[in-house]
Amino acid sequence: MRIALISVHGDPILQAGGKDAGGMNIYIREVAERLVDLGIDVDIFTRMHDRHEEIEEFSNNFNVVYIKAGKESLDKLGIYSHLDIFVDQVDKYRKASNKIYDLIYAHYWLSGVVALKLKKMWNKPVVTSFHTIQDIKQEAFPFNIDNPVRGKEERYISKESDSLVVWSNHEKKFIEDKFKINSANIEIIPPGIDVDLFKPSDKSEARKMINLNQDIKTILYVGRLERLKGLDTLLEALSQLEQKDINLLVVGGLYNLEEVSRLKRICRNLDLDQRVHFLGSVTRSELKYYYNSSDVCVLPSYYESFGLSALEAAACGVPVIASKRGGLSSIVLDKKTGYLLQWRCPGPFVDRLETLISNKGLRETMGRAARNHAMSLSWDKSINQLKDLFNKLTLN
Ligand code: UDP
Repeated sequence: MRIALISVHGDPILQAGGKDAGGMNIYIREVAERLVDLGIDVDIFTRMHDRHEEIEEFSNNFNVVYIKAGKESLDKLGIYSHLDIFVDQVDKYRKASNKIYDLIYAHYWLSGVVALKLKKMWNKPVVTSFHTIQDIKQEAFPFNIDNPVRGKEERYISKESDSLVVWSNHEKKFIEDKFKINSANIEIIPPGIDVDLFKPSDKSEARKMINLNQDIKTILYVGRLERLKGLDTLLEALSQLEQKDINLLVVGGLYNLEEVSRLKRICRNLDLDQRVHFLGSVTRSELKYYYNSSDVCVLPSYYESFGLSALEAAACGVPVIASKRGGLSSIVLDKKTGYLLQWRCPGPFVDRLETLISNKGLRETMGRAARNHAMSLSWDKSINQLKDLFNKLTLN
């Protein structure tokens, strides 16, 4: 079987944590590598773009084809009007390389638009994963600026794709109810986690690796710095904690200058400058030291379609406090592996942070449960489910 994997704006080999490089990029890379291991050929088509981030090491067993469509400096918002060129270039590549694709797997709505045009030309099934859906994002953060056609396109893609792969029951229900899609056309296949890369290790050794003081209590946030991630809720909560000698490490690219300066202003206003450390983005092989150095990991997002970083923390045996939003509810088991809280409300975050920070035994118990839960979310399971779906669709 040969798959054309379309990721118009998400270059799978970029280091995550920067602009347009987050959970989706990691997912695409991990899935492609594992499908190839199962004997499936994967070509990933992505737009040629200005690179702001480093390239992450990857196994290079899959083929990334860079497609010229619009200026390389264009951002996500400007790409839509260049999608026809993208489609033509993908087809040109197919003809020149004499390849036949059995299935098209699209990521994000822009890629869904491309995939459905290719479907008309190639007459092959399309599977789409939205990763985020505009209406859900808009509800979580009404000031979000997006392409005005996105909502309409997402409805169309939902109807015309042969199958939709979602990561959580929340997303499935939303598509069923709002887009009126039959549940048989929606598969919940969450990502897995590399439990060999992300595993518990000695905290003191991990702290040495990142030059972190051995004694200070440490809260960790890992992710892109976007308003939707709700870091302001966490800063507010940190300022209200009775105990003041607690650090917050913020790991994630500093590309969004407006958001970074807004967050730093909040830190100044709350007198947190000395306690909050903006560290920029970190490679995945270093990230394990950050997780293993922390006492608790917090993901206070307004919305997450999944929340890979929460799963990575759990796999390292670290309790996670997260908002009860989207996919986070399947990663954090409330009161067992951490806490799921009302979003955008600092109060509950203060309470739960105080509970965990002051109770080492509870942190350890929850950390062990978190690791066990992460072990049950293996990549093998996800990839076999994807493979079964692809086999079913290509048999017809
Ligand atoms: N990440 C990383 N380096 C960083 C910050 C984040 O490799 O400096 C990775 C992180 O490990 C996770 C992904 O980026 O795998 C973020 O995915 P998540 O689902 O948490 O958030 P998204 O970016 O999709 O909103």
